[in-house]
Amino acid sequence: MSKFNTSQNTDNSNNISKIERELASFIALIVDATMQSYPTVFTETKIKCNKKGCDGIISTKLLVTNDKIAWKCSECENNGIIKTGLNGIV
Ligand SMILES: [Zn+2]
Repeated sequence: MSKFNTSQNTDNSNNISKIERELASFIALIVDATMQSYPTVFTETKIKCNKKGCDGIISTKLLVTNDKIAWKCSECENNGIIKTGLNGIV
């Protein structure tokens, strides 16, 4: 009777997908909060910065002309642009 061990060490890929999942949920929170009020100037959300050790609050703004969301942290340099893809602009 042969015995095969089919389990693989997937620690590395698990770590990557965990980071991706956390980023995806962070972005989903930002999109969700922004779509509730459609702020055209930077407006504070209830979302905390995702940077380790930062207690900043994320502000977001909808860039209406090109369907993007700009976000930034109140405490650190953490910021970004999210393409909402509403009209397919890349
Ligand atoms: Zn921050």
